[in-house]
Amino acid sequence: MALLTCRGLRKEFGGHPVLDRLDLTVAEHQVVALIGASGSGKSTLLRVVNLLEQLDDGTIELDGEDISDPRVDADRVRRRIGMVFQSYNLFPHLTVLENVTLAPRRVHRRARAEAETQARELLARVGLVDKADAYPDRLSGGQQQRVAIVRALANSPRLMLLDEVTSALDPELVGEVLALIRELKADGMTMVLATHEMGFAREVADRVCFLDGGRVVESGPPEQVLGDPTQPRTRQFLRRII
Ligand code: ADP
Ligand code: MG
Repeated sequence: MALLTCRGLRKEFGGHPVLDRLDLTVAEHQVVALIGASGSGKSTLLRVVNLLEQLDDGTIELDGEDISDPRVDADRVRRRIGMVFQSYNLFPHLTVLENVTLAPRRVHRRARAEAETQARELLARVGLVDKADAYPDRLSGGQQQRVAIVRALANSPRLMLLDEVTSALDPELVGEVLALIRELKADGMTMVLATHEMGFAREVADRVCFLDGGRVVESGPPEQVLGDPTQPRTRQFLRRII
């Protein structure tokens, strides 16, 4: 069964369509990579799924529930979705442990001890438990981004949305973040990720969707979309970036 079904999504900014009748289905445990030129609508798509932007038309179903219904409690929906951005967005005045436990304690109303135990377990898994009491500015970009991913995982999300999570990193730090995403996939996490890393998309994604002008122009297995695209616009895009 599909975990996420987007049908006919339309989003305009200033009268200009940014998502244009976009359809996307993501099965449980599937990893979908969104590729496409800057401005093609990748971030907007992830943001509407996380209810950070209001749709002009279309429906989004998560786990069979229509989350695009305006009567839906957006906070409740976001508890089931983990989102990570290009700029890690950690709270600078909170320690790593406080960053990770904030949502579980406030939103999920977990007891402090329980939230901290879970946070330390997650941090241990990504090799950062020794940084639990450090402030973000003491961490490298790669470490901060891994903490941001752990923070999203602390909510036990059904779906992870990752928006260019390696784009702001120095090249030598990209690998450690990609390794963590690889591990999430091995654990069966359902993910939609916007990425410029074509090699990584090819390796980790079950399906690659090429966006152009707010529509999915081509979608399929990575080896097909990236290796033998059928659409001229996909070919043009891949020629430009490789
Ligand atoms: P991508 O992530 O693929 O680079 P975006 O979804 O960020 O693309 O942007 C798609 C288009 O929507 C761009 O033309 C961008 O300028 C526009 N856009 C995105 N967010 C806003 C906003 N809040 N207000 C106005 N225009 C926006
Ligand atoms: Mg973007």
